[in-house]
Amino acid sequence: MPKAKETVLEIDLKALAHNYAFLKAKLVPETMFLGVVKAFAYGSDSIVIAKKLQELGADYLAVAYTKEGVALRKAGITLPILVLHPLPTSFKKIIKHRLEPNIYSFKILKEFMAVAEKRGEKKYPIHIKFNTGLNRLGFVEEDVDEICKLAESQDAIEIASVFSHLAASEDLNEKEFTLRQLSIFDSISNKMRAKLLHKPFRHTLNTSGIINYGKRAQFEMVRSGIGLYGYGNEAAVDKELMPVATLKTIISQIHEIKAGESIGYNRKYKAEASMVTATLPVGHADGIGRIYGNRNGFVWINGKKAEIIGNTCMDMIMVDVTGINCQAGDEVIVFGPKASAEDLAKGASTISYELLTGISQRVKRLILE
Ligand SMILES: *Cc1c(COP(=O)(O)O)cnc(C)c1O
Repeated sequence: MPKAKETVLEIDLKALAHNYAFLKAKLVPETMFLGVVKAFAYGSDSIVIAKKLQELGADYLAVAYTKEGVALRKAGITLPILVLHPLPTSFKKIIKHRLEPNIYSFKILKEFMAVAEKRGEKKYPIHIKFNTGLNRLGFVEEDVDEICKLAESQDAIEIASVFSHLAASEDLNEKEFTLRQLSIFDSISNKMRAKLLHKPFRHTLNTSGIINYGKRAQFEMVRSGIGLYGYGNEAAVDKELMPVATLKTIISQIHEIKAGESIGYNRKYKAEASMVTATLPVGHADGIGRIYGNRNGFVWINGKKAEIIGNTCMDMIMVDVTGINCQAGDEVIVFGPKASAEDLAKGASTISYELLTGISQRVKRLILE
């Protein structure tokens, strides 16, 4: 791998292929696989990732918002794309770009049906979301009859799938709750399939769901995001996966600091003894938030851990390199295969998802095929 000469997010497509194969191996071959590429494919590059997933044989993609799906269509992605959180203002665009909406309330069901009818659509695929305990989006079991009646009353739309989302699939202390969610989903989806002429397919597992409940509940499809990007919400799974994104930067300048001097804005750090710092060209505008400052976060320089000291600036951080053999121009690893984003995130009381999706569009992406 080339040494970094600037701040860059490397995207390793071999790692993506590895993670895809790992997750597929947890499922029976007939189970369809939806790759979640929302939020720039968890902060990486949604077009590159979507193309690769299409090539690897994924059956579906999902984005959160319509705009993200339109970008994939414009880049030539032909796989079906589920829009997880469509808003009524985007329904025309959804149809124009052949995106498939998550329908989670009667309000948007009726609004979408009206738009589809007006445009002369026949059997336009929609996906009905049920709330089984997350209490975020979705219909409830009592709505089944009314949904089916509405769906059978016209032919502009067709219910392609029914789905739900687990609240705590990664937490085995909540196993009882998760099994209850799954049994509510069994009951709802059986009713839907009995009432509708066209039997919708079913899906409810995310990455940790595949790992922990894959045998019990893979249904006809699963939806994975974080696992594809190399994180599994538990150490044993992380070991089997390969992080796709590596955030690298370089040392811009080294400073010899004398005891009593301060470092950075608001003089947040005061050196008690003489020390050495390195200034790096990456800051909160790139996704390394202020929370990582003041020794909550760290980077790796020549194999050694260097803590972030003082306040994170918009465009820079300063790290403590006392005792580390390094100089201006040296490569710095913020996170990647040997420097888990999950570990760095922990210091800021957050999770890999937030750190990864927070890497801003200012950071150059470098694709490794
Ligand atoms: C983001 C999302 C997923 C992916 O979850 P991971 O934990 O990243 O695998 C699946 N389903 C829905 C509804 C989501 O919003």
